[in-house]
Amino acid sequence: MQSPRGTKDIFPLQSKAWRETEQKMADAARSFGYGEIRIPIFEHTGVFARAIGEETDIVGKEMYTFVDRGGDSMTLRPEFTAGVIRAAAQHSILGQSPLHRFWYCGPLFRYERPQKGRFRQFHQFGAECIGADSPESDAEIILLARQCLIAAGINGFRLQINTLGNSESRAAYRARLSDFLQSVAERLSDESRRRMERNPLRVLDSKDERDREALVNAPSLTDFLDLESKVHFELVLKILDSQGIPYEIHSRLVRGLDYYSHTVFEFIGDSLGSQDALGGGGRYNNMFEYFGAKSAPAVGFSLGMERIMLTLEQQSPVLYSPERPDVSLIALGEESVNTVWKYADVLRAEGLSVITDVLGRSMKSLMKEADKFSIPVVLIVGENELAAGTVILRDMRNGGQRECPSNKIVAAIREIIG
Ligand code: AMP
Repeated sequence: MQSPRGTKDIFPLQSKAWRETEQKMADAARSFGYGEIRIPIFEHTGVFARAIGEETDIVGKEMYTFVDRGGDSMTLRPEFTAGVIRAAAQHSILGQSPLHRFWYCGPLFRYERPQKGRFRQFHQFGAECIGADSPESDAEIILLARQCLIAAGINGFRLQINTLGNSESRAAYRARLSDFLQSVAERLSDESRRRMERNPLRVLDSKDERDREALVNAPSLTDFLDLESKVHFELVLKILDSQGIPYEIHSRLVRGLDYYSHTVFEFIGDSLGSQDALGGGGRYNNMFEYFGAKSAPAVGFSLGMERIMLTLEQQSPVLYSPERPDVSLIALGEESVNTVWKYADVLRAEGLSVITDVLGRSMKSLMKEADKFSIPVVLIVGENELAAGTVILRDMRNGGQRECPSNKIVAAIREIIG
């Protein structure tokens, strides 16, 4: 039996790096006043179909949807935002306080064509700022996303930013763009011809060379922005400028989902190859309505953990150094076993990582193991030590060995491992 295509098994060498990285990002989110939200991994299919949009790739062809035993259509979450807003609407959190700051981290599922940096089960770290419509909240989310990448240790990424304007601006542009796409339809890729009907904006960020050529003279969304949309975007940029955050305005950046308006942005990793987006986000002001709640504005981002970890594998090999126990405890003879387990208990309570033998191996093979895995200290209890209430401590780095009273073990070990 093989794992399903597009999924990964993560063993301790990697999972340690993942956990440490997620912790650094969580610390960054906490430093911005964000608290963790945990939501179900599956939702009623309608949560995603409505919020993300029937016309998007995600809803149209990538969702893992199934009918459960009660006959309800359920979907494994393909993204976080819809579930977070479903939860916010369901629990009427905006009735309790006008602003909520959440971060999240966990697995998502999309039936995509697997390749480097693209999986069917993948993970995101992200955040949503719910309740604010201000350029300041857009800037805060961008600053936090950036800080998460920096905290994770990513070197070499660029921020691309654009505005989709408010819905009036976008509707006017969409109509004009559709006309333009019709006029160049025969020069577009099959994929873009298909998208053109359902989601014309999406054609703009096609990576296909044919599309790029055909789109050279496409109308620009910037020309369709009304005053409100322009002012909002300029204020966001002004804050970024004031904070010395570099960015590139990318007028073709639209992102794949239907729900965005105003600010959208993406972080591009310099060393990722074709799937080079580390993450992105934007403002979405209409999602609460999909869940039958009073309209409320929100802005958020999500970062792809696989792509972050792929980058760190190249940039930060030390993150991937194996985790080794501090002490290997060896009992010589049946009578010592209980005592050794008691010492193990004491050392673990002191925060040390210790192992005892569970394979009935000889002293020689246990010493070999300690050597192989660079375990710095070996603690040995034989008949003599048992009678004397002592242990033998061996410093594996220099081979030095000494007897130590059992009530001084912790200090002696700390002295060795520093
Ligand atoms: P999205 O939710 O599509 O805006 O994606 C945000 C980020 O999640 C992307 O920039 C990627 O880093 C990551 N991501 C999206 N889809 C996948 C996938 N299928 N496999 C791995 N990472 C993904």
